[in-house]
Amino acid sequence: MENISKVEFILQTLKKMFPDAHCELVHKNAYELIIAVVLSAQTTDVAVNKVTPDLFSKYPTPTDLANADLSDVEHCIKKIGLYRNKSKNIVTLAQKLLDDYQGEVPQTMEELVTLPGVGRKTANVVLSEWFKIPSIAVDTHVERVSKRLGLAYKKDDVLTVEKKLMKKIDKNSWSLSHHLLIFFGRYHCKAKNPSCSECAFLEICKENNKSFS
Ligand code: SF4
Repeated sequence: MENISKVEFILQTLKKMFPDAHCELVHKNAYELIIAVVLSAQTTDVAVNKVTPDLFSKYPTPTDLANADLSDVEHCIKKIGLYRNKSKNIVTLAQKLLDDYQGEVPQTMEELVTLPGVGRKTANVVLSEWFKIPSIAVDTHVERVSKRLGLAYKKDDVLTVEKKLMKKIDKNSWSLSHHLLIFFGRYHCKAKNPSCSECAFLEICKENNKSFS
């Protein structure tokens, strides 16, 4: 790690580990992406990708979803967690897109967070992934690994973690860094049983492998 900062070391290492880090939620447009991200709360992208083909073939536009029968939507996504609440959210989200945004997904954080079920994390994913506006979405993986790697304190809330990452990481790398940290959390530094014995960050890790032995 000589001559480079800790954050550069982390990002360079993660780029080598995950050269193909990307958004794993399957989507064709901003509408599909925002719905998929809302559905992904407290479940996996793999689980979401199993229900969205059917959902988007039945409701290909915000207008179709806004006019959907709630029980039909529930039936469509019932294999994922919290499906009742999520069904209500995505139908009202589609209605709000029609009422307030001419059926288009808005492109600002301020507008995105007015949509049902959409918080900063979801908004940041949409801004970054679809609109290519540099953003760092802090989900459970990003929060956990940022704290383990000492990029944020254990006590920091998600907004503080987001601000610290934005300060430490070059703006041009925000979106890629978000994917790299997610892949690291999803496939290596998992919440339970992280792969500490083969980790390049043992020396800097705040938890270090003793916690998991
Ligand atoms: Fe994660 Fe373990 Fe590596 Fe620390 S040493 S960053 S906990 S995998």
